[in-house]
Amino acid sequence: MNRTEELCVACGLCCDGTLFDFVKLESGDDGAKLKGLGLPVKVSRGASPVARFPQPCAALCADRTCRLYAERPRQCRMFECGVLKDARAGRITFAAALRLVKQARRRADEARRLLGELGDTETHRALGERFHRMAERLESGAPDAAANATFADLSLVMHRLKLQTLEKFYTKTAAGD
Ligand code: SF4
Ligand code: SF4
Repeated sequence: MNRTEELCVACGLCCDGTLFDFVKLESGDDGAKLKGLGLPVKVSRGASPVARFPQPCAALCADRTCRLYAERPRQCRMFECGVLKDARAGRITFAAALRLVKQARRRADEARRLLGELGDTETHRALGERFHRMAERLESGAPDAAANATFADLSLVMHRLKLQTLEKFYTKTAAGD
């Protein structure tokens, strides 16, 4: 396994519903085949239908490898987060990249733990979606002080995770990257 693969297998944030809510299929992707391989591909309604499947991805294994690596769609093949790009370009070391990935994973895990504490069991949904649904649920109900305190902790963790992912993971493509 090369250093890029080692970093991604330690991470999986672009597959587990932390960075993205869904994967959009592009020209060249065989939606029927991917569906047959177990990805729940659906085509949206409307003037410009889009085929996509949700995250956390059904092909993501417990060891953070992709069960469909050889067959994965184009978006998965093309995406490289900012941390990976920086490490490959030598702007940061792979050790520093691994630290960033581990820190983001800790925050995402903590957010999921707090969601569970608040009674959320929708582990099939992306993290951001779970957070927004929980916010709506609490706003429309009458949460007690403990739930409000837990939600405050959750909001802080989500805020820190968002700042980190915006700064380090969802970067613009620079020439030569
Ligand atoms: S978010 Fe970056 S480091 Fe993590 S798996 Fe995706 S490409 Fe690899
Ligand atoms: S198909 Fe593979 S690479 Fe693409 S989101 Fe799913 S686990 Fe990740």
